[in-house]
Amino acid sequence: MLHVIVDDYGDDLKIAEKIRKYCQRKSPWIFHFDTGSCNGCDIELLAAMSPKYDFERFGCLLKGSPRHADIFLVTGPVTRKCKDRLVNLYEQIPEPKVVIAMGACAVSKGIFQNAYGVCGPLDKIIPVDVYISGCPAKPEAIIDGIRKGVEILTRKSG
Ligand code: SF4
Repeated sequence: MLHVIVDDYGDDLKIAEKIRKYCQRKSPWIFHFDTGSCNGCDIELLAAMSPKYDFERFGCLLKGSPRHADIFLVTGPVTRKCKDRLVNLYEQIPEPKVVIAMGACAVSKGIFQNAYGVCGPLDKIIPVDVYISGCPAKPEAIIDGIRKGVEILTRKSG
């Protein structure tokens, strides 16, 4: 659809850009990465997707590739093994992008404060836009964090 607009009306790139921004705001695509969590937060993310909370009603969609994502949702305290992969994935997400640290581990290393294999928290490795507290983070908090992320994404898009 965007191709047709751009090809047929070379001068109307602005329209295509407006459509892109509208889609990004109305249907943010999310890439989730676990950097060594206990899986508690990851299960809560699934709960947020379940019919009870249903974050897809806001247009949110989990995607399997960082190249398709607008929002990078990260759980876990960032283990040394995950650090390079985390940075690699972050760099693959196109601009503008938003990073969300989900759960106490991603926010502050949580219960893994003194673990020898941990090099987080997340904002020590990559820039973070939104912090979601909780151990684990609740589905309501996850939805609120994503909503804040979309607001920031809209501002970044201009
Ligand atoms: S914040 Fe709590 S529930 Fe979430 S990954 Fe860390 S220990 Fe697990």
